[in-house]
Amino acid sequence: MLVYNIGQLLVLPDLHEQAFLRVENGRIAAIGPMSQAPAIQDHDIDASGQVVMPGFVDCHTHLAHAGRMDGTFTDRCNAVESISEADLRNAIESRLAFMESLGTTTVEIKTGYATSQAAVQKCLAAIPSRPGVITTEMSPLAETTNPSWLLHNNPRFLDALCDLEGLSVDQLRPPLTAMKTPVKLHVCVSAHSNGVQLALDVNAVSVEHLLHANQRDIELLSRSNTIAVLLPAMAFLSKAGRFAPARALLDSGVTVALATDANPGDSPTYSMPFVMQLAMREMKMTAFETICAATVNAAKAIQEDHRVGSLTVGKDADFLILASKDYRELPPVERVFKSGQECPRTYAADASAPASFF
Ligand SMILES: [Zn+2]
Repeated sequence: MLVYNIGQLLVLPDLHEQAFLRVENGRIAAIGPMSQAPAIQDHDIDASGQVVMPGFVDCHTHLAHAGRMDGTFTDRCNAVESISEADLRNAIESRLAFMESLGTTTVEIKTGYATSQAAVQKCLAAIPSRPGVITTEMSPLAETTNPSWLLHNNPRFLDALCDLEGLSVDQLRPPLTAMKTPVKLHVCVSAHSNGVQLALDVNAVSVEHLLHANQRDIELLSRSNTIAVLLPAMAFLSKAGRFAPARALLDSGVTVALATDANPGDSPTYSMPFVMQLAMREMKMTAFETICAATVNAAKAIQEDHRVGSLTVGKDADFLILASKDYRELPPVERVFKSGQECPRTYAADASAPASFF
C-alpha cells in the first residue's frame, strides 16, 4: 500500500514535505519524496497534501478498572475484586477500541485498582496480550513491602505510587532495589518527595506525574535517561491547582512524554488529543514538542521505540492522517492505521462502553 501526496510527513524527529510512505506486511517499507514515489495503484491512498504522523502512544493508563466515576478509590478497588475476568477483559477491549478510534495505536495498561494479589492477577490475566498493549503491574498498596510483590507474574514493568497516599521512599527502596523487572514510578503527585532521586537510584525507565517536582529534581532528570511522563488531564480534571513544570523540564533537556492517565477517579479521559491540547495551553509546550511527547517519547517510556512512535523503515505501520495540512493545528485525526490496516472510526456503544469519558 502506498500513501502518497503527503503534505507533511512527521517521521519524528524529522519532518519531510511532499512525501510518500509505502507499507508492506504491516510495516513501513519505504519513505521518500513524491518525485521518487512508486507507481500509484487503485487501492493506494491519496493524503491530499495533509499531515501524516505516527499513531499516539498512551504510555500511562489504568484501563484495568471496573468503570464508575462516582464513589471512592476503595469502591473502585471493590469493583475490580467483584468483576469477572471475562467482563473485565471485555471492558478493556471496549476502551482500547474507543482509544484506537481517537488515534491511539499503542497503550500501556497498569493494574492500579487492586488491593489484593488475587485482584492483581485477575487484572493481569484480563489485559490482552498482543502487540500494541503493554502491561505494567502496579503494586497493591497494602502489600508492597511484602517481597512476594517481586513477582512471578512477569509483567513488562512494575510501578508504585510513591506519594503521601501511597508508599514512602524508605518503604519502596528495598523492594525496588532488589527488582529485576524495569521500574516506573508515580512521584511528586500530591506533594514533593525524594521519589525522583529514588527512581534514578533504581534506574527507573520513567517517573510519572511530577506535579510537585522541584528544580533539583529537574537537574537530576536532566543528567539521566529517565523519561518524565506528564499527565495534564489528571491535573486539569482533578483540579490539582497546578501542572507539571513541563517548560523547565524541556528547557533542561529532559525527555518528556505525555499520557492520559485514563482512570475513572482523577483522570476520566481516553483522549490523547485532549491531553495534547492541555499540554500546549497549560504547560506551554510547542506543537512539535507535544507531538513528540505523545508519540516517539511516549514509546521510549515503555521501551517500545524500536517498534512504534516514529515512522522509519522496518517499524510498525501505525500512523494517522490528520484533517489538516499543518501539524501545528494538531489533530483532528481523520484516519487511523494500525499495522497498515485502517481502523474503524465509528464506535459502537455497548454495555461496557466508556460513555461517560471523552
Ligand atoms: Zn497512574
